[in-house]
Amino acid sequence: MDELLAYLMAATVQLSGLPALTERPPVTPMPYQKMLVEICADLKEESVRMLAQYDLCTHGQSVADKNCEALKPDPEPYAQCTSQTGLVAAYILEQRRIVYRDDLNLENDADNSFIVHEFVHALQDAQHGGKMFDTCAGVIAAEREAYSVQQRYLYFRGQMLRVGERLRMVGCEGLQ
Ligand SMILES: [Zn+2]
Repeated sequence: MDELLAYLMAATVQLSGLPALTERPPVTPMPYQKMLVEICADLKEESVRMLAQYDLCTHGQSVADKNCEALKPDPEPYAQCTSQTGLVAAYILEQRRIVYRDDLNLENDADNSFIVHEFVHALQDAQHGGKMFDTCAGVIAAEREAYSVQQRYLYFRGQMLRVGERLRMVGCEGLQ
């Protein structure tokens, strides 16, 4: 496993041209639902923090006319995050680690190409200090690069799988 991950990281560095990392991020397999909980953890923290503020507002020594409703956390982002389908792997920015579905077979090049994709995000994170993911345009540029490296890896390994098709439809109109 360690040897395979070392190989995948070396391939990622070579195919992306991005600077290598001194330390490889941890790569952990997990069941799909557990993986979503991990990935969405920051949204949950956010809603827990907002709920604490809301409680303080409604039960605390706040002035009567204060608008506590505005502080009421929206459960939707977390619920949406944990109910998404079709995710294979993710680089968790806050934790600088990679999680992937435990039904992937990393001996298979089509499957392990998703680790290459996430390794690209780890390299981007190091190069841009996390700032690349701050805007919609930045996220799309990061995804475009990650898919293009993943695709080059797939060609290199003689795989027919095409990735990143959906990304072409995505734009940032009306977004930051
Ligand atoms: Zn990605």
